[in-house]
Amino acid sequence: MTTVRTRIAPSPTGDPHVGTAYIALFNLCFARQHGGQFILRIEDTDQVRSSRESEQQIFDALRWLGIEWDEGPDVGGPHGPYRQSERGAIYQQYSAELVSKGHAFPCFCSAERLDEVRAAQMANKETPRYDGHCMHLEPAEAQRRVKAGESHVIRMKVPSEGICSVPDMLRGNVEIPWDRMDMQVLMKADGLPTYFLANVVDDHLMGITHVLRGEEWLPSAPKLIKLYEYFGWEQPALCYMPLLRNPDKSKLSKRKNPTSITFYERMGYLPEAMLNYLGRMGWSMPDEREKFSLAEMIEHFDLSRISLGGPIFDLEKLSWLNGQWLRELPVERFAAEVQQWALNPGYLMQIAPHVQGRVETFSQIAPLAGFFFMGGVTPDAGLFEHKKLSAEQVRQVMQLILWKLEALRQWEKERITGCIQAVVEHLELKLRDAMPLMFAAISGQASSVSVLDAMEILGPDLTRFRLRQAIELLGGVSKKETKDWEKLLAAIP
Ligand code: GLU
Repeated sequence: MTTVRTRIAPSPTGDPHVGTAYIALFNLCFARQHGGQFILRIEDTDQVRSSRESEQQIFDALRWLGIEWDEGPDVGGPHGPYRQSERGAIYQQYSAELVSKGHAFPCFCSAERLDEVRAAQMANKETPRYDGHCMHLEPAEAQRRVKAGESHVIRMKVPSEGICSVPDMLRGNVEIPWDRMDMQVLMKADGLPTYFLANVVDDHLMGITHVLRGEEWLPSAPKLIKLYEYFGWEQPALCYMPLLRNPDKSKLSKRKNPTSITFYERMGYLPEAMLNYLGRMGWSMPDEREKFSLAEMIEHFDLSRISLGGPIFDLEKLSWLNGQWLRELPVERFAAEVQQWALNPGYLMQIAPHVQGRVETFSQIAPLAGFFFMGGVTPDAGLFEHKKLSAEQVRQVMQLILWKLEALRQWEKERITGCIQAVVEHLELKLRDAMPLMFAAISGQASSVSVLDAMEILGPDLTRFRLRQAIELLGGVSKKETKDWEKLLAAIP
């Protein structure tokens, strides 16, 4: 019998997402239960959006939760490299194989031509898709143009009719008509693969036997299945996991719920409780108990207990469960966890330089700097009344700064300042117009230590959370304002 091998394949393009941890957890449980291996692969072929910072945050966040992998970019293994950006030559080779077998073809169409085709199809109420223009080129002619250095992508051929049956471990066979599939680009003009090619090649070469991934990938499954067939490879078993949802049933999004794992760490959730809660997303223990450890989940894991109704990620339920965990900790462990959370020497050393000069006794530290040990804060709305700015402008400045900070990858004081500066300059304001607002939102009080230092120390999750809370306190942002301000945002360097 072959060993079960599962994997998680995150793209390092943002904060470490709870959805990544959720899928990782189920892959881990499935592999462990079968005595198999769990692999971490980094899918960083989108060079513009991927970053090493984000990759490191994914490693750190999963480890904080207690999720360990047997092979991966940082631990090595026999099937490396485990970062797609380091596997370029492999994809070139397999893409060439598909072309030579006639399953894929170089496409030289310009963006303008593709736009025209798309516009014409839309006008005819057809599904926009590639029209096969370059598929009909003589292979020798196509090769000549490739050799001459003409810019091109590689597209896969797909059947134009019939049905693809996707064998899903949870839903049985899911039938998807081929005419919904486009002639997917496999290699981009820059010579890098797209998700489809890289994912199939790597899952095969890394010996992955079972793929548990989010159900958002189900509609594109036929393309992956076709690629396995073209290569003549055995397809791994497929399992499309239900997506996490906000309490209003919409897809989990950071607009409605913090989605970054590090947020939960900074808020003071216990990693075991967090993992336990993720384990309850669409799954339950045979005896329906709510509190269980990773070891218990592995022991009782059974895919057939996954229910397909979208699991709701609800902060209140998570907090309730966290409370259960905290109360049942031996008190020594509870104290040690609190210490580790924010009373550790590293964190105190970051705060100390900012309070030392401002207190006469240690007992003044808590009133001055208590906000360093809080999740949200509760500023008085009066603190946001501004001499120069209207209430609407106040919300606008804060929202724009929040968006800028959401996109900031390197969380350093200079860069945080740069974000605020960029926004105020664009609005023809001064830094000192925005600072009192930041101050109130972040510290929740009228006076304290330097707010830029505080933001750096608090980190991106708590900073953004507090800004979001302050904006809510002031009435939130309407749909129309969101639209208008997003346009403004796009113009800010
Ligand atoms: N890179 C994809 C993602 O970020 C992987 C999806 C898959 O598991 O195939 O979700």
